Amino acid sequence: MKTSLYIGKPFGIRVTVHWTFFILIAYVIYVNLKNGSSVGEMIESVLFVLTIFACVIMHELGHSLAAKRYGIITSGITLLPIGGVANLTRIPEEPQKELFIAIAGPLINLFIALVLFLILLISGFDYSMLFSTHYLDRAAFLPALLIVNVMLFLFNLVPAFPMDGGRLLRAGLGFRFSRLQATRIAARIGQLFAIFFAIWGLFHNPFLILIAVFVFLGAQAELQDVQSKSMLEGKKINNLLMRNFTPFNPQMHLKHAVDILLNGQEEEFVVLDGDKVVGVLTKNLIIKGLSEYGQDVEAEKIMETDFPTFETDDLVKDVYEKLQLSGTKIAPVLENGVLIGVINIKNIHEYLLVFEALNSKRWL
Ligand SMILES: [Zn+2]
Repeated sequence: MKTSLYIGKPFGIRVTVHWTFFILIAYVIYVNLKNGSSVGEMIESVLFVLTIFACVIMHELGHSLAAKRYGIITSGITLLPIGGVANLTRIPEEPQKELFIAIAGPLINLFIALVLFLILLISGFDYSMLFSTHYLDRAAFLPALLIVNVMLFLFNLVPAFPMDGGRLLRAGLGFRFSRLQATRIAARIGQLFAIFFAIWGLFHNPFLILIAVFVFLGAQAELQDVQSKSMLEGKKINNLLMRNFTPFNPQMHLKHAVDILLNGQEEEFVVLDGDKVVGVLTKNLIIKGLSEYGQDVEAEKIMETDFPTFETDDLVKDVYEKLQLSGTKIAPVLENGVLIGVINIKNIHEYLLVFEALNSKRWL
């Protein structure tokens, strides 16, 4: 299902708008209708919201271009009603790099605010008006946009990890503490802010409740991820390798895979042509293949041919990261070019569970 609308590719980065964003536009129109605004006023408020989100896109582009400096690719930017999300393929572990990427977004808003400030100054705008009560309710387009950008700058600096300010906090803590400890402190502070946002939002702004949910769950997920990776630190994949697996050849029928799948032993397979790995079959591909071609289709017709391969002395942490990024979940492991086993995400997760259980400490 297509849930996002493509709007362009600035600097080669795909920008899309999530469908829920249009609820926000509908809401703006609804409020205008309720207040009996004229068509002109209604168009102006919709344009104003769209301009704010253009600033949000620029903010995300700030993060993306800063990340690009370190060779980190942004797979896309998505606009949601609560703001933008830039999908970076990874977050650098070096504090100074995370610091630079995190600050680049808010600095764009500060820059936009500065430009607007100068434009208004030159055109003779009376800045003392900004301080009169309820000015925002009747503010003109440009002064209101200036205020919004200052607010975006300040709000993003709130240290609610994984928001920008929270990332700055983790990066700052990273100079003193280990990455895991820094993340743990930042995530807990982030979750405290999330609770505060939720309570505040309940009385003042429903959007803040959504942001609170994102922050709370986001902090937990990132902490989990850093925790997992720190457990895998220094470990090589030869310990986690599955040496018993069912090899497929390209002419084998899908039915064969389905039988093994239903038996519950294996869910993913490597496809071998002689002793060369030519593809992988995942559970999703098998199900998709079944519905498209039926169970007599040959493996080579539906297998994924773009997959990572690893060597026995590769680090589990790197393998985990690459498997998370590639959609394949399984990869062949070679030794001197010869296939000796397979590794999949499920293996690594099970290994983490066992490791966690063995190392858990009980506090009585
Ligand atoms: Zn940001």
